[in-house]
Amino acid sequence: MWTITGCGLVGLIIHRILNKFYKLLTLPKPSFAKKDYDVVIVGGGIGGCALGSALSKAGKNVLVLERDMSEPDRIIGELLQPGGVQHLKDLGLGHCLEGIDAARVFGYQVFYGDDEQVNLPYPIVEGGRAEGRSFHYGRFIMNLRRACEQDGATLLERTVVSLIEKTPGLIEGVQYKKNNNDSTVDVTCKLVIICNGAGSSFTRQVRSDRFGNKPLVVSQFIGLELADSAEKLPKPNHGNVFVLPTGPVCFTQTLPKRGEEMTKYLLEYIMPHLPENLHESFKAEVDASRIKVVQNREMPGETPESLTKKGVVLIGDAMNCRHPITGGGMTVTFSDCKELVKAIIQIKDLNCVSEVDEAIQSFYSNRKKVASTINILANALYSILAPSLTVVRNDQEKTIHKDDTVSLLRRAVFRYLQRGSFCQTGPLSLLSGLWHSPYGLLFHFFSVALLGSVDLIKEGGILGIFGSLYKSLKMITGATTLIAPLIAEERLLSCVFPRFFWKRTAPIK
Ligand SMILES: Cc1cc2nc3c(=O)[nH]c(=O)nc-3n(C[C@H](O)[C@H](O)[C@H](O)COP(=O)(O)OP(=O)(O)OC[C@H]3O[C@@H](n4cnc5c(N)ncnc54)[C@H](O)[C@@H]3O)c2cc1C
Repeated sequence: MWTITGCGLVGLIIHRILNKFYKLLTLPKPSFAKKDYDVVIVGGGIGGCALGSALSKAGKNVLVLERDMSEPDRIIGELLQPGGVQHLKDLGLGHCLEGIDAARVFGYQVFYGDDEQVNLPYPIVEGGRAEGRSFHYGRFIMNLRRACEQDGATLLERTVVSLIEKTPGLIEGVQYKKNNNDSTVDVTCKLVIICNGAGSSFTRQVRSDRFGNKPLVVSQFIGLELADSAEKLPKPNHGNVFVLPTGPVCFTQTLPKRGEEMTKYLLEYIMPHLPENLHESFKAEVDASRIKVVQNREMPGETPESLTKKGVVLIGDAMNCRHPITGGGMTVTFSDCKELVKAIIQIKDLNCVSEVDEAIQSFYSNRKKVASTINILANALYSILAPSLTVVRNDQEKTIHKDDTVSLLRRAVFRYLQRGSFCQTGPLSLLSGLWHSPYGLLFHFFSVALLGSVDLIKEGGILGIFGSLYKSLKMITGATTLIAPLIAEERLLSCVFPRFFWKRTAPIK
């Protein structure tokens, strides 16, 4: 017995040593020409600016290239969860939340159907109740850009058009342009950080498509900015969430056409379910056609195995994005920035390809706990809250897809949160980005299904026992089939949920 174990151990050590040699032999040889910068960051959005600032403060010579330096007018990041506020402060950028009229957010108020609601405060942390911040994305990003420059990074308005790859497999810089008609300029560096948002074409160049390198467009986000609505909300300083009786209506490819169809949809199907004192400002925005539509995309994160090039690292939405329903994207991005800075400052020689490569691999492993928790929660919650697709075409409303199992789950989630105590603090700690535990999330997810089943059996009584048992079984199986592909994507419990088996496609075609 001992001999077998001993042989196994020796075999493992030999395998590890051979692996190291193999990696060293296959690594591309660096060119030793002097580089223009230590780090070039593609994209001066949320992640690019935070990284530019933190790496400059750590003594690196950093260039950030952003294609459009004007203040963005987009709906793409309006709530920063308490966990994100903490990461931002840890990066030394807490002051970027000042001077932009950011509102303090203490939790959520969820309205279920037309007559039920539950208050979900953020958990208590050291120093009091945890707080998020709500603001205009554009004003926040302008503060981050200013901070990035003040901290020492060079920030230029340029569009990156390609990556420089003279030695196959090794990225040594980027090519950029100022205007469309200009010729390209080369800039070299020791590490390229790609941070140019979801759907980046560079992601496809540096990441193996075996692991998914294109985001899945799962739905569309329709946003209106209501004037003077903050005090009119039923619960000010909270995220007010209205779960409509039929479930939130979701669109995929069948988004109503802009113009009359969209106006009709918003005024006749959405507005009646909102508090009456918001109707006037809602109608004014719809009438003025100030409606913003953004695609909701999902893409699993990077892993050490999906790396195909050296000298380059993906971060932010270019590497990993999840449904925006929980407002978790910026929290993941800031947490990633912290992890990447930690990994980069440990590199003794940025010219050493293998050392940089190891640091990048450790970053991809270390980011997982925070990212997986927020990714699974967001994508699962979206699947539960938006199962029905209501399409309005030619004056006819048609519900294309309605899944009983998911509506049972939706009700079970609401009841679970109503129980209070740890049924509330657990999910809220996960949602706010303060508790990083994918397994804690799975515990709560299956508790929802189990307690929901108990409720169903109690409601059914003795006479309805068979019907309730059938429904409960359906709900538990439904919960497992819903969460399994999300777990597989995040490569958790891979022996139970292998990826090839639980592959995900767009939810509704
Ligand atoms: C509808 C919607 C709502 C959301 N709401 C929230 C929310 O409430 N809370 C939250 O935390 N998250 C939210 N998110 C997620 C959040 O927006 C992202 O996670 C976050 O912006 C990612 O930051 P980033 O730096 O990776 O990308 P971005 O912030 O998108 O920045 C990318 C930057 O790269 C620039 N760029 C692109 N191509 C090039 C190029 N070739 N050369 C140079 N520059 C380039 C772009 O101009 C842009 O400035 C939402 C997302 C969506 C889609």
